[in-house]
Amino acid sequence: MADAFLVVNAGSSSIKFSLYIAHAESLGLAVRGQVEGLFTSPHFAAKNDAGAVVSEKAWGEGAKLGHAGALDHIAGFIRGELAEHRVVGVGHRVVHGGLEYTRPVRVNADVVAALEKFIPLAPLHQPHNLTPIRLLLERQPGLAQVACFDTSFHRTNPEIAQRFALPAELHDAGVRRYGFHGLSYEYIASVLPQHDAQAARGKTIVLHLGNGASMCAIEACASIASTMGFTAVDGLPMGTRTGALDPGVILYLMDQRGMDARAIEKLIYNQSGLLGVSGISSDMRTLLASADPRAKTAIDLYCYRIRRELGSLAAALGGLDAIVFTAGIGENSAEIRARVCRDAAWLGVELDSAANARGGPRISAAASRVSAWAIPTNEELMIARHTRNLLGAA
Ligand code: AMP
Repeated sequence: MADAFLVVNAGSSSIKFSLYIAHAESLGLAVRGQVEGLFTSPHFAAKNDAGAVVSEKAWGEGAKLGHAGALDHIAGFIRGELAEHRVVGVGHRVVHGGLEYTRPVRVNADVVAALEKFIPLAPLHQPHNLTPIRLLLERQPGLAQVACFDTSFHRTNPEIAQRFALPAELHDAGVRRYGFHGLSYEYIASVLPQHDAQAARGKTIVLHLGNGASMCAIEACASIASTMGFTAVDGLPMGTRTGALDPGVILYLMDQRGMDARAIEKLIYNQSGLLGVSGISSDMRTLLASADPRAKTAIDLYCYRIRRELGSLAAALGGLDAIVFTAGIGENSAEIRARVCRDAAWLGVELDSAANARGGPRISAAASRVSAWAIPTNEELMIARHTRNLLGAA
């Protein structure tokens, strides 16, 4: 019987999971899947390492499975289908670890209570991240659980990079730049030495360009600045999020348009970004395939904002050795990578178009002063590694 680690990523309407089998020196993905539409039309699907569907179930329109029901189904699936493995630990993705949690932590009731205090800092994600932890603590108190945070990797940011120019009282109360996508950046930092040892010791900007998007300045494998701030709505425009927005716009919307906090939240999180600008789609593939000028404007703005943030993060680093593209758009869109690299020519990036079209991993010319890479991220594996390391050390 092999030891296995379950990775859980719970959101408001879905629970994603991955099961890793422990080998001597590595972790192998056995199966991954999700239950989506928890409160509307629940649907479960699991795929093996090769991407083949191994199990599927739909509960039908209007069924309300909730997090507890979904977790039960996932647990039953793992018990039934993978009887030769023994789950020895569960690793959870938790968006906010505040200032306190600079690394993953084994959870108990006290830790859950501490993490609940961060709900006001991430109301859209934190409560849902904590739900399966609480459920498992109740139902299987003997099962070891580890919380891994999207903020932890950025705790190495210098104090000045964390600060808004707000009165000190607000800073002390926790209104500061935290940064997110930390598990993705940590994974990239962990594999960068295999690709470019010099950059791993030096200065790198990682572009996590997915449905959510951010960029991170990394020096000697530690985060020193990122584009996301107090919340995951700051920085780059995303699929449906605005990215950086003059706070005066929010005041205007309240005063002149009579919008309240909930309406503004919907606008800046769900109705803006690529979707809002194009009026067509939040999906980069759809926009790239469209001849509509509004799609072009959305893509132009996206690339323009990346170009500006590249300059800003290179300035924070005081130089640049490498840039790394990752996540859905970064890993798959040669077109966006080519545009960003062309815009970064002044920083010393020289694209190898053929290598970029092939998908990398190295996409810069041999003579490029700054190397460029396309490297798939793996946040789930990062969580599984942390869970194994922490439990092994316990
Ligand atoms: P993620 O959140 O990392 O899954 O990334 C989702 C985003 O990646 C969506 O905007 C997709 O349109 C985009 N994406 C995935 N594949 C491609 C592709 N081949 N070309 C352009 N964008 C892609």
